[in-house]
Amino acid sequence: MIIDINRETDRIKTILLSLGADDCGFVSLEEQSSISWHMRADDVLPGVKTIIVFYKKFPRYFYTAEDRECYNKDFCKMISSVDMISQMLAQEIISKGFQAIAIAADDEVEPDWGAVSLRHYAVLAGLGSIGKNKLLLTPRFGSMVELGAVMTDMPLHGDAPIEKEICISGCARCIQACPQQALGGGETKADHCKETVYLNEDGDSISGCWLCRSSCPLNISFGKNNI
Ligand code: SF4
Ligand code: SF4
Repeated sequence: MIIDINRETDRIKTILLSLGADDCGFVSLEEQSSISWHMRADDVLPGVKTIIVFYKKFPRYFYTAEDRECYNKDFCKMISSVDMISQMLAQEIISKGFQAIAIAADDEVEPDWGAVSLRHYAVLAGLGSIGKNKLLLTPRFGSMVELGAVMTDMPLHGDAPIEKEICISGCARCIQACPQQALGGGETKADHCKETVYLNEDGDSISGCWLCRSSCPLNISFGKNNI
């Protein structure tokens, strides 16, 4: 199927922002064929050409709430709202005659937990860089964002990764704050982190202790602009 790639890329961006995403970016697997995560994407959707990545910022009270039960309930709703955006966008793309798969937002914690690593695709899509807390750090909101994604065989233009390193040079607050010594060195020690995962009344896991987010100076400064 022949499409106007420039026009479709702009149209998808407009749809995402109108659905409530705060920012989005595109990874063109045709333009970046050598990336190591390509194979995993192809496993999920054979023939995939584009990974569309977006995020919604957390409300500031996620950062400041003392009542963990309270913000964890809203955190679940946040994940649902991100998934809803992914599903609506996937349906829109399918209606144009292409294949599309919405990637569940809470599917992304560690590469061995989820179908793909949304953080790494977010970096390739120009949305930020990975910090020492192993989370995506965005220029506007630090790590206080929830990522969503759609894979499609619709060809779209990719965005360039940002060149700036967002994590603060010489800072190690998140590593020092982690009660499980899960950070520092290579990948997050997911089994250590999982021991802090909060369970709701239905026994569903929601999130860890969040000290790797709440200790980060980037989130303090960005949070002030995020009421
Ligand atoms: S959620 Fe807590 S335990 Fe897990 S990596 Fe972050 S600071 Fe460490
Ligand atoms: S706390 Fe410091 S080292 Fe950790 S992610 Fe934030 S800026 Fe980077």
